[in-house]
Amino acid sequence: MTSSPRPLLNRRLAEFGTTVFAEMSALALRTGSINLGQGFPDTDGPEEVREAAVRALRDGRGNQYPPGPGVPELRTAVAAHQRRRYNLSFDPDTEVLVTAGATEAIAAALLALVEPGDEVVALEPYYDSYAACVALAGGRRVPVTLRPRDGRFRLDLDELRDAVTDRTRLLLINTPHNPTGTVLTREELAAIAELAVERDLLVITDEVYEHLVYDDAEHVPLATFPGMRERTVTISSAGKTFSFTGWKVGWITAAPELVTAVRSAKQYLTYVSAGPFQYAVAEALALPDSYFDGFRSDLQRKRDLLGDGLRAAGFEVYQPQGTYFITTDITPLGEKDAYAFCRALPERCGVVAIPNSVFYDAPDVGRNQVRFAFCKKDGTLSEAVDRLRRLAS
Ligand SMILES: *Cc1c(COP(=O)(O)O)cnc(C)c1O
Repeated sequence: MTSSPRPLLNRRLAEFGTTVFAEMSALALRTGSINLGQGFPDTDGPEEVREAAVRALRDGRGNQYPPGPGVPELRTAVAAHQRRRYNLSFDPDTEVLVTAGATEAIAAALLALVEPGDEVVALEPYYDSYAACVALAGGRRVPVTLRPRDGRFRLDLDELRDAVTDRTRLLLINTPHNPTGTVLTREELAAIAELAVERDLLVITDEVYEHLVYDDAEHVPLATFPGMRERTVTISSAGKTFSFTGWKVGWITAAPELVTAVRSAKQYLTYVSAGPFQYAVAEALALPDSYFDGFRSDLQRKRDLLGDGLRAAGFEVYQPQGTYFITTDITPLGEKDAYAFCRALPERCGVVAIPNSVFYDAPDVGRNQVRFAFCKKDGTLSEAVDRLRRLAS
């Protein structure tokens, strides 16, 4: 027998090796670099929320399997939050589903709603789990590329319309957008909504950065546009909003039939998760506006601290209007290849970043883009900025 053995990893996942985050985090550790690669805060969220989790754990709330759709307290808090922030009303019993972070919500929604061969139109660069989950569902991803124009990554509405075919099942949207930091405008969202209604498409919208918008940008949920309430699965999570990314408490809000469909997949993925944390997040969602405003202005300040430093070091900075991230262009530094640049950066100046090229299908698009996370302590950001200054000399 000369035939080569069958590869272990099945062909749906073969193209997705280990993630660039694992590679870069290992590099950070080995070189003692400041890790601005992965987007997690280095400070925990509000003390009272942490205490709420301790109380739930001590009181024996959530230590055994919580209800499949999530604890009623959290579902009610999610519905109240959607009403208070966006004037959207959802029935906590039939239109809210708690998931193991937004990650499970994305996986369960795609596994539930995509039939093998269906096309899924998604904004590129993608959050890394989108492509893998579309593949697991047997779907075909169709990218629509966000491109920088006048300092901001923009959606080309003609390109979006052209991407939709008779095989398109759903649009997968993310705003505020990771990694570009762009926040889709009302006009862009209205065009997406019109297209979804006209072509009768489902929409999954990942809005985990809903509270992280800066300057005069505004987050408008897609579900608020005409005809969208009944066809949209809105995904959010406590991880980014409350700086507890390890808790993995996420949720969807959607019409009852969509929630039922997503739950069919979710129940065989994790069934349930994070019992005591669900109670704590229910309390977090009810925090006064001052928490959300303070958190946002704190991060905006961090964005400016890192952004100014990156400009001083010679990067072109695409000013993010939302999220934890700054995307830069390395061309002004005389660099062409983001991957090579990021592999060398730890040795050159002790900082780790992520090459955006890994978030694109076409290897050449995004080749000159590098992403830095700014959800870190001021001291860490200042030190990173000092180190990056070496690039300018
Ligand atoms: C962080 C992130 C997620 C994952 O959220 P979890 O709640 O940690 O699973 C999903 N989508 C985007 C765009 C993210 O940045």
